[in-house]
Amino acid sequence: MPRKTTNRHHRAARRALLAIVPLVLAIAGWQWLQNHPEHNPWAPLDLNDPPGWATRTKLLKLRDNVTECRAVLERSDVAFTVLEPAGEGDCARPDRTQLARYPLAPDTPPVTCPVAAALEIWRRDHVIPAARNILGSEVARIEHLGAFSCRRMYGGPDGPWSEHATANAIDIAAFILEDGRRISVLRDWTGDDPEARFLRAVRDGACTSFATVLSLDYNAAHADHFHFDQDVRWSGVCR
Ligand SMILES: [Zn+2]
Repeated sequence: MPRKTTNRHHRAARRALLAIVPLVLAIAGWQWLQNHPEHNPWAPLDLNDPPGWATRTKLLKLRDNVTECRAVLERSDVAFTVLEPAGEGDCARPDRTQLARYPLAPDTPPVTCPVAAALEIWRRDHVIPAARNILGSEVARIEHLGAFSCRRMYGGPDGPWSEHATANAIDIAAFILEDGRRISVLRDWTGDDPEARFLRAVRDGACTSFATVLSLDYNAAHADHFHFDQDVRWSGVCR
């Protein structure tokens, strides 16, 4: 065969290969995503999946979609009750979702569905493992200081409304372990003992599911609790 023709054949073969390789990689990547829904931004969110690259994005997307949020809770076998809307004006709460089997104490207050979904994933993926690994115990109860409060930020007469005004937030104060220990944000935050490391782990873990997470690292107003919310306007504060 003349040399020119051989070269042409080689070039054609290389072009075909160059066209096929990306296709094969794309198909392999797509199949991998099908088997790893937690990393797949197009897969429906299921809170039973392990946490993945797409989890936070999907959770934050629920902030302005109550219908999809409740579908996620149902799909994930999270028991909840939908309460009648309440309040009016800046403190209107059209979305009051109450988790039925969540260990909040002294009660389980209704919150927005996006807060409920984030609480559930926080408990499963961060609170339970951190308590087991760092403290060697299960968590019996999670004490809170309230979700709904019709007020502006920091209780002032003006300024932006708090996310608590619509129960789109919750303040977490302490954790009661099954062995009886009580880990409190106020008493145990500072230092490097297991209690302090546990609190840091669950604070950091909350940042993967909530839009805003505030602790004593943010300001002194958070010395006795963590503030978690799902503000749709901004995100990324985690201190
Ligand atoms: Zn708060």
